[in-house]
Parts: sequence; C-alpha cells; structure tokens
Amino acid sequence: MKNRVALVTGGTRGIGAAISKQLKKLGYQVIANYSSNHQQAEKFFSETEIPAIPFDVADYDACQKSLTEITETHGPIDILVNNAGITRDGFFHKSTPDIWQEVIQTNLSSCFNLCHLTVPHMRERGFGRIINLSSINAQKGQLGQVNYSAAKAGIIGFTKALALECANKGITVNAVAPGYINTDMVRDVPEKILQAIVAQIPIGRLGKPEDIAYTVGFLASDEAEFITGSVISANGGQYMS
Ligand code: NDP
Repeated sequence: MKNRVALVTGGTRGIGAAISKQLKKLGYQVIANYSSNHQQAEKFFSETEIPAIPFDVADYDACQKSLTEITETHGPIDILVNNAGITRDGFFHKSTPDIWQEVIQTNLSSCFNLCHLTVPHMRERGFGRIINLSSINAQKGQLGQVNYSAAKAGIIGFTKALALECANKGITVNAVAPGYINTDMVRDVPEKILQAIVAQIPIGRLGKPEDIAYTVGFLASDEAEFITGSVISANGGQYMS
C-alpha cells in the first residue's frame, strides 16, 4: 500500500490541497497538479514536501506529457483524484460559447483526459481508485451556474459508466459531491449570497476542505473496494439526493 502513487489535480489549494495532505498522511506517494498559481504551489511544497506539477488538465497533450514524466519519476498512477475545477458564473442568457467551453473542458473533459491516460495501466495492474469531484449544484442546479452544473452533472454520468466498465478489473470509480466548502472558490461568492447559503445548511456552517479530504481518503482505501459508481454527498445536509 505504502508505494501506491496518487495524483491529485488542482491539488495545491483548497479542497485539493486538503486531499493531497490526507492521502500523504495515509501513506501514499502523492503528486499534486495545479494550473498557474506558482506562488501557492511553492508554499504548498515547502509546507508538505509534496511535489507540485503545473499542467492544464483541459489540454489532453499537456496531460499526456506530464503523466509520462510523472510515471517515469514516481511510477504508474494507482489513485487518481480529478479535483481541478473552475467556476465562471453568470446568467445563461449573458454567457458565451467560450465560457461554456472553458468550464466544460476544465471540469469535465479533464476527467476524460486523465482517466483515458491512466485507466489502461490500472487495468493491466488490476488495481485503481478514481475519485471525481462533482458538486451539490450538479444534483440540484444553481442560478448562474448552467455551465458548471452541466459539467458537474456530466461527471456523475461519466463516473457511473466508467465504473461499470472497470468493475471487474479492481478499479473503482466514484464521485464526491461537496456542498459549499470554505475555499477561494466560495470566498468569491458575494457575502450576502453566502449568508443565505449558510442559512440553508442544516449543520449550520460551510464545509471544511478536510471534510471532503476524509471522504476521498476512504474511497481510495482497500476497504472501499465494494463501493463503485457511487456519488457521495458531503454537504452538511443541504441537499439529500
Ligand atoms: P479552488 O479554486 O480553491 O482551487 C482550484 C484548484 O484547481 C487550484 O489548485 C487550481 O490551480 C486548479 N486548477 C484550476 N484550473 C486548472 C486547470 N485547467 N489545470 C490544472 N489545475 C487547475 O477550488 P476548490 O478547492 O474550491 O474546489 C475543488 C473542486 O471541488 C473543484 O472541482 C470544484 O468545482 C469542486 N467543488 C467545490 C466546492 C466548494 O464549495 N469549494 C463545492 C462543490 C464542488 P491554481 O492554484 O494554479 O489556480
């Protein structure tokens, strides 16, 4: 177990950073990916000693190049956490095709890119854990997030279908659907809207990145081998699907 290699996309900030740290604590060899915030990535590395590697998860060729390098240095990926994501909120009628593409490519096509590049090797080795970050807003919809809700709902279908294809190969594929978690992404939400959101969370607070990291840590474990094609909600009771 100790030698298993985990790749966490968007793993240097927010939920991803908490996942990276939790997987390291559980004994995995963790590699964190990020996009362009080098300053944060350096800070993350100096605090955790987890290698942080920049590449764009929306770009298949960039993923392929980086995965080849990661595999040569650390070995094949056993645990893939597709966590990198973005929001580009705004009403649908004011949105543009470019914004649509950016959100779909970064949140959803990234799952295709990284799974397509890692699943064949997991199949050969008879083991794999894939955990995709969806969202409460995939399950319930959200004003101003048609693009994001569509991408995150796409992840749920992707997860279930891939889980079926991988089930007899020792590979589990699951999604985690966080509610509102206190990260940079949510800190961008205007204060008044945020207060209204917290009022809808029965547990009475925003989630912590660690709330999601513990869930991912369990799904990555050997003990979770009978869980596949599932969507685990971690949302403080805000939405029960
Ligand atoms: P943050 O905005 O805090 O961090 C996003 C991370 O993703 C950063 O490390 C960022 O890199 C990376 N990233 C963004 N775009 C790319 C890209 N094209 N290629 C590689 N890396 C990229 O996000 P959160 O921690 O809040 O969210 C993590 C995941 O959880 C996302 O998928 C999000 O949609 C989902 N989620 C979050 C919720 C929340 O309330 N926060 C609720 C539900 C789901 P860099 O630092 O270089 O910018």
